[in-house]
Amino acid sequence: MVDTEFQGRVALVTGGSRGIGRAICERLATGGARIAINYQHAEDAARATLEAVNSFGTDGILVQANVAEPKEVAEMVKKTEQDLGPIDLLVTNAGIAKAEPADQLDYDSFKQMMSVNVDGTYLPLVSVTKGMRARGFGRIVCIASIAALRPRPAQAAYSASKAAVIAFARSLSEDLAPAVRINSIAPGLIETDMMQIMTPSQRQAIAEATPMKRLGRAEEIAELAAFLLSERSSYTTGQCYIASGGRVTLP
Ligand code: NAP
Repeated sequence: MVDTEFQGRVALVTGGSRGIGRAICERLATGGARIAINYQHAEDAARATLEAVNSFGTDGILVQANVAEPKEVAEMVKKTEQDLGPIDLLVTNAGIAKAEPADQLDYDSFKQMMSVNVDGTYLPLVSVTKGMRARGFGRIVCIASIAALRPRPAQAAYSASKAAVIAFARSLSEDLAPAVRINSIAPGLIETDMMQIMTPSQRQAIAEATPMKRLGRAEEIAELAAFLLSERSSYTTGQCYIASGGRVTLP
């Protein structure tokens, strides 16, 4: 354990098996949080996250669930609370992305995107916020994307889903305050499995168009999430934080 910032706290991180979610699990573990690591398919990867969490001297559990399925989310929350205790920190991070040029937009694919990215944010949130309010404490971070804030070719459905995440978090913040704080993060392109939806030359073009002249790392998003989940951001709720190496505004 590196510090004690999250000692005594229980965290649920959706999509904690890989990429940004894994980095968030590890970062919260360095602060002493006990962590429920959600995944859908990649059990081996989730086990590797759990080993990393344990290596920081704290414990955790794996909770397999499709975040878009109400019954599975209810089971995930129940198991977390039974095994670790009431959830103090929630990170809705699980998500999918797909490159779809405008002439290939497909309604089934659109519904799947909305289901995982929007329902998959809504369901864990509504499952935990009642308890958080009753206990008078909760900290939530929703992972969105700068795709919601600026055009990205072939990503209209993904962008719309992430815009919904930002609006949902922002709107809920008033109802949840003052006991529960909720913020969203809009990352730029981050080096994870998800960036494979772009070709190497597309990724290179984005890196060159980014003021920081590189893509982001999952650990950089995890650090911002930890800040927003901690009392270092005690007067902050309903905001969307952009972490994109400066690449936000319209070209
Ligand atoms: P990733 O490496 O592809 O990992 C995705 C994670 O989400 C995995 O843990 C996966 O679980 C989980 N997941 C996907 N669908 C799920 C479902 N239906 N139920 C439960 N878990 C599910 O992606 P990432 O890059 O870390 O992205 C994490 C979040 O950041 C996403 O919301 C993404 O939209 C957002 N984001 C990413 C970038 C980027 O450039 N990478 C930029 C902006 C925003 P399994 O391992 O079991 O498959």
